[in-house]
Amino acid sequence: MAVLVTGGAGYIGSHTVVELILAGYDVVIVDNLSNSSRESIERIKTITGKTPEFYHADILDRKALREIFAKTEISCCIHFAGLKAVGESVEKPWEYYHNNILGTLTLVDEMRRHGVKNLIFSSSATVYGDQETMPLTEASPLGTCSNPYGFTKAMQEQILRDIQTADREWNVTLLRYFNPIGAHPSGLIGEDPRGIPNNLLPYITQVAVGRLPHLGLFGDDYDTPDGTCIRDYIHVVDLAIGHLMALRRIEEQTEQSALQSAPQLGVYNLGTGNGYSVLEVIAGFTKATGIEIPWVLKPRRSGDLAVSYANADKAWTELGWEATYDIHQMCAHAWNWQSKNPNGYE
Ligand code: NAD
Ligand code: UDP
Repeated sequence: MAVLVTGGAGYIGSHTVVELILAGYDVVIVDNLSNSSRESIERIKTITGKTPEFYHADILDRKALREIFAKTEISCCIHFAGLKAVGESVEKPWEYYHNNILGTLTLVDEMRRHGVKNLIFSSSATVYGDQETMPLTEASPLGTCSNPYGFTKAMQEQILRDIQTADREWNVTLLRYFNPIGAHPSGLIGEDPRGIPNNLLPYITQVAVGRLPHLGLFGDDYDTPDGTCIRDYIHVVDLAIGHLMALRRIEEQTEQSALQSAPQLGVYNLGTGNGYSVLEVIAGFTKATGIEIPWVLKPRRSGDLAVSYANADKAWTELGWEATYDIHQMCAHAWNWQSKNPNGYE
């Protein structure tokens, strides 16, 4: 039996595929390469010594999905495939709703047709919206998202919850990621955004490598100790291992499901529980690498929240997972990847 990983050529997907292979799983990837490179599959092979089966296909393409399900016995699907750029989603809402919502609906439909009812989904802390109380727990209320990308995550969560409620054979795990950064310690795979990066760490590493002149710091007048926004940055390898732990829980549940009828919906925050401000991340990067990052103050970015960090106790209690890397290791690994691959996978 194999694990189907949609979006497995992408940033988080490729790191998860590595951990799955190292843990002994057979992996099948489906990715349309709209935001990734085939080279990441080669790099996975270099790290693990194994080549995952790769289908260059779109999850909206039923025929392609049917062929995959017909050819391979799939036990579980880890669903990363989706568009994820917040700003772009404001400009192209149709494309975001179409790709993310219809993609998930199509995937889930083909899964159930083939009797595959185990799903781990890439959700995001964005579903909490703007909350007063920190840290965020899974019991925190869901908020209003500030952009179409965020709404696609909230809607996909709702769709998957409803499907699991209607058919208790489904095991659905919603993993709410905080801010994934860093790269595999080998420096062979990492984050390779197309065009100007939207996110903080890839922007910093591209300044460090000389591709961009300086960082724009979006606002220093927030209600935080140094006035810059606070986020819960998590190492992408820790995040990847979170998926492995979620998969193991689903496997245990599948074995026990004949014995019990507990609802098999799991919702977990994947974060470190520590918040760092933008200025602290810049200083942390310099401490880890010795490289100064020039920055200029810019106006606040619309939709940014002042503070967001996780309580990840539930993932520890129920999945036995916790983050292990600190912010300096995250920065060092991000730089190791960028300096070895100044132009990403190109
Ligand atoms: P990514 O863009 O690197 O990976 C997504 C992959 O999905 C890409 O390889 C892309 O080519 C593929 N894809 C997109 N639409 C597809 C389709 N219709 N059919 C087949 N493949 C398709 O992004 P990532 O950072 O690895 O994120 C993975 C998932 O995690 C996404 O769902 C994202 O929304 C979610 N997430 C990411 C973050 C983050 O900060 N990176 C935070 C929270 C949640
Ligand atoms: N940020 C910044 N300059 C950039 C990119 C991001 O100052 O070029 C800030 C942003 O305002 C936020 C933090 O860095 O406070 C993290 O932003 P990112 O886009 O990485 O994550 P998200 O906003 O999704 O939490």
